[in-house]
Formats: sequence, C-alpha cells, structure tokens
Amino acid sequence: MRLLCRLYWIAVLLISLSCPMAMAAAPGSSLILCYHHVDAPAKNEYTVTPDDLRAQLAWLKQEGFSVIPLSRLVDAYRGKGTLPAKAVALTFDDGWRCTNEKGLPILKELGLPCTLFLYPTMIGKKGDKWSYEEYKALPPDAQVEIGCHSFNHPNLLKEGGKLVGQARQDFLQKEYVKSKEILEKNLGRPIRWMSYPYGLYDAEVCRLVKATGYEAAFSVNAAPNSSRADPMFLNRVMILKSDGLKGFKRKVQMLPLEVSGVQPVDGATINGSTRTFTATVVDPEVDLSTVRMTVAGRGKCMVNPKTGQTVVRLDGELKPRAYQISITGRDKKTGRVRLCSWLIRVAGAGSSGATGSKTAKKPTDSASTEEEE
Ligand SMILES: [Zn+2]
Repeated sequence: MRLLCRLYWIAVLLISLSCPMAMAAAPGSSLILCYHHVDAPAKNEYTVTPDDLRAQLAWLKQEGFSVIPLSRLVDAYRGKGTLPAKAVALTFDDGWRCTNEKGLPILKELGLPCTLFLYPTMIGKKGDKWSYEEYKALPPDAQVEIGCHSFNHPNLLKEGGKLVGQARQDFLQKEYVKSKEILEKNLGRPIRWMSYPYGLYDAEVCRLVKATGYEAAFSVNAAPNSSRADPMFLNRVMILKSDGLKGFKRKVQMLPLEVSGVQPVDGATINGSTRTFTATVVDPEVDLSTVRMTVAGRGKCMVNPKTGQTVVRLDGELKPRAYQISITGRDKKTGRVRLCSWLIRVAGAGSSGATGSKTAKKPTDSASTEEEE
C-alpha cells in the first residue's frame, strides 16, 4: 500500500512538471499598433496612405504575424486565454472619415480585425467624421471593435492641469466616465477600453478609469507589451507617414523587455527636482551590456551587469510636463532591439504633452504635433 501511495505521488509530480496547463500560463507578448488618418496624399505625419497601409498589413500576414482582435488580446492579459506567437492588434484613433472609408476596406480585403477609438464630440460632425448611424451600420464581418477616446479629446496636462477641486473632478467624470456611457447608449454596444488622448495619463486618471469598469487602457508609450503587462497600462506603437514599409518593419520587429521595481512608477506625478530614475532589468533574453535607460532621450545611465539594476541620473530641473522613460537593450540571440517604456508626469500645470524618447521616434516628441494624438 505504501508503495502504491508513493507511486501515485511520483505520477502526480511528473504530470505537474510535464503539463503546462498545471501552471498558470503566461499570456505571451504582443504589439499594438496605433494609426490615425488613412488618406492620400498624406496631409501630415499622422496620415498613412492607403498604399502604405496595404503594404504594411500584407507584410504582417506574409511574415506570419497573428493579427488578432483587441478583445482577445485584452482577455489574455486579464487571465483568459493566451496569445499566439507574434500577436499584433490594430487600432485607429479619432474616427476620421478617411480612415473608415479608405482604411477599413483594406482590412476587410485582408481579413484583419481592428479597433476604432472614438470620442463623442467628434461623432456626427459634418465632413470628415462619421455619424453614430454609420458606425452602427458596420456589418459584423467587418471585425471592427470600438473603444473610448475620452469625451472631448482634452490634453490632460494643458486643460486638466489648470483645474482643481470640484472643477477637476467634473472634468475627469466627463472625459472618462460620461464618455463611456454616451458611446454605449448611442452605439448600442459595451465600451470596454479607453485610449488616452495624446497618450497622457496619471495615477488619478488610471484609478478612475479602472473604477469606471474599463477592462483595459492604452497609451502611446512606444514599446511592445511583455507577458507581464498590466491590462490597464498597455503600450501602443504609433505608425506615422515617414515610417513607410521600412520604418514599419523596424517598429514591428522590436521585442519587449521585462523590468521590475520601476521608480518612479508608471503614471507617477513627481516634482521637478527628481534626478534619479531606477528599474531592474529581469529579462534573461537581453544582453545587459547593451542596456540603456533614458528619460525622454536624456540622462546618464549606469547598469549593474550582475543584477540588471539600472539607474539614470539627470542634471537640472525637469519642466512640468509628461516624460516617457525607456529602457532598450539587444536580444542575446538575435541582436534585435528589446524595449520597454512608461510615462511619468512632473507636477505643475504644464503647457504641453509628453516628451518621448529618441527610440519612440516622434509619437509624443513634439508638442506642436500633439493635436493629432
Ligand atoms: Zn486622439
């Protein structure tokens, strides 16, 4: 009997070691792309021509990327299911007529799903915006999902930063709570996700978005999402006119870089005298000798080659605005870029949007171009 019992426990142990289902499966890594206008000729840096879009998406299919609905991607990061290898999701912000009428047919032709992030005050405007009826008329086989992009597309720092007390609470309620209710009522479908206008958020906004019942929130921090990604902090990589097919390939081939112990944390509001930023690179795939951390492309970086602890120090005061912090490194096997990125905000009203890193290549680099995000 004792022998049988021992054999039983050995069998249980072997099964648990050999069967991946016995352990909580990691969701896998992913890349979420963020587009705006699809039109020709391209009128600005945020416009991708239909020819470029078709070439980029056809290349994804040819190279074996799995373009999946955002719902499937979010579910995986919420513990429901796993992601296929080379998982990519496509998103289009602001709901431009040109995008809906020149971009969506290309996705349909290629059989690819996407998500549109819309905000109520831009729906139904004559000319370059669709009406609620036009969105409701989208057939199910169009594979189009819809998320919220605020109520009025405010700049959280510029407009929200001026407000205090009840006025700020009213602003936040309208932009992140009421917007969801209005879209749900008028579109007749649940709205599960928020993409932040200009990619801007802070801890208070993140708390509110979560409490409102959004299942995920999206920035434009220009990095892939690692298997550890928090669904309320998902990165998106913006695709711009100047990317063409070459730049697109470079962005899509970036790999995620896993870090822990980030300080200050993602979404933190700090004061301008903060000089030191830290994180620990815990990614076994990255060559630690190639790791570099920057604050909006700046700073003196030091990496402990044994522990992966990475510190960047800045000289001088930081101006009141948002800053993307990035860590890059090379994959040990392939030499490809691994990257992670997050956003912090320096206290004060500020007058502009996020300042990105050099690696991010313009998504939030310039306050002068931020109106499109
Ligand atoms: Zn936008």
